[in-house]
Amino acid sequence: MSDLNAFREEARAWVRENAPEALRGTSGSGPFEGYWGGAKCEQTDPDLLRWRDLGIEKGWTAPSWPKQYGGAGLSHAHEEIIHAEMKAIGVPRPVAGQGLAMFGPVLLEYGNDAQRAAHLPGIARGEVRWCQGYSEPNAGSDLASLQLKAERDGDEFVLNGQKVWTSHANLSDWIYCLTRTDPNAPKKQMGISVILADLNTPGITVKRIDLISGYSPFCETFFDDVRVPVGNLVGKENEGWTIAKAILGHERSSIGRSIARQPGSAQREVVGRARKHLGVAEGVIPDPLLRDEIAALGMLEEAFHLTLARIQQSAASGTPGSEASITKIVGTDLKQMRFELGMKVAGADGLGWEGPGFDEDDLQYTRDWLRSRASTIEGGSSEIQKNIVSKRVLGLPEGKK
Ligand SMILES: Cc1cc2nc3c(=O)[nH]c(=O)nc-3n(C[C@H](O)[C@H](O)[C@H](O)COP(=O)(O)OP(=O)(O)OC[C@H]3O[C@@H](n4cnc5c(N)ncnc54)[C@H](O)[C@@H]3O)c2cc1C
Repeated sequence: MSDLNAFREEARAWVRENAPEALRGTSGSGPFEGYWGGAKCEQTDPDLLRWRDLGIEKGWTAPSWPKQYGGAGLSHAHEEIIHAEMKAIGVPRPVAGQGLAMFGPVLLEYGNDAQRAAHLPGIARGEVRWCQGYSEPNAGSDLASLQLKAERDGDEFVLNGQKVWTSHANLSDWIYCLTRTDPNAPKKQMGISVILADLNTPGITVKRIDLISGYSPFCETFFDDVRVPVGNLVGKENEGWTIAKAILGHERSSIGRSIARQPGSAQREVVGRARKHLGVAEGVIPDPLLRDEIAALGMLEEAFHLTLARIQQSAASGTPGSEASITKIVGTDLKQMRFELGMKVAGADGLGWEGPGFDEDDLQYTRDWLRSRASTIEGGSSEIQKNIVSKRVLGLPEGKK
């Protein structure tokens, strides 16, 4: 038996023995599953906390990080196995969030020793929550147009400007920001630097953005003469674009991969809803067009899982390349297709928002369906991902501007 096969058995046994019963089957139920942590964390579910503590103790909140930073010092292949075994019983990872999925892996690669020692253990233990300061009012898809100014003043940077759509800035402790350090650089991708800021620093104001649905993760983050030490610069000054893209690679890959639940689960979910709402307790669903659509969903889901397996094998380094854009495009298409079909079979029952006459599952489904619309926008829209795939994966020439 190979080392990895033996490890799979060990991981399976540990996960099945230790994962709290109440958390099993909960993964994949929404974008905010799991323990997100940080100083402002309000999650008190004892099962979530126990699972977090067990994960920390074993170093399995960040299995591939070195032990000195709270990881288990395992390879990326071992980490994949641990995550797959958690996914197999539908249990969330012991600690969730951008620190583990996006920022931490990049700090490990591009940060210096002092930064790694200062920030990674808190992320691995779920004690410090991070948010992403990328988008600005005039810099979304065209991210390199960003204007948050960072000017050097002795051994500090002084930050002035604004970020927008900063998810959960109100619940986070630190922010990693893309800043403009050289406004005169010959190309706008040059002159950008990644700077870290404690959100408690004087001059930072976080304002919630309310949405019509009532729930909103969004914030605006304002910087008004915010002073941070030069030690908070990650990598070299004016060369932050490469780091910014590396974080986006992790973001796109994790958005896409979080959508892949157990193979066949999207199709089973829609069949289950069709049986419930169309009153077909068993046997063939009578509408042949609907059967076709469900079959198409199942085929896309199968193809997605096979593609993910291929991409994982080729990305042994754990650093996603441009193929992360494929993962995101297909994963988010699959998610939207699943929810569209799930809503279609529900008919008028899918319109419920609150009140009597709708069960909890249907009310949640409506919210999840609406949330799925955002998946093809967050982390860079599908149109932008298609541009990246055409240029960097397929090597197609750029169109005339
Ligand atoms: C749920 C969610 C969470 C988010 N969280 C964060 C966060 O935590 N931090 C953060 O910094 N940002 C966050 N964002 C912002 C997100 O990164 C931007 O919304 C996204 O990059 C698109 O930018 P925009 O909204 O400015 O749209 P625009 O750039 O204005 O795009 C509008 C439309 O034009 C299309 N378009 C633009 N340029 C091109 C082109 N060259 N070719 C083809 N089509 C094009 C786009 O695809 C889109 O359909 C979040 C967004 C969402 C939806």
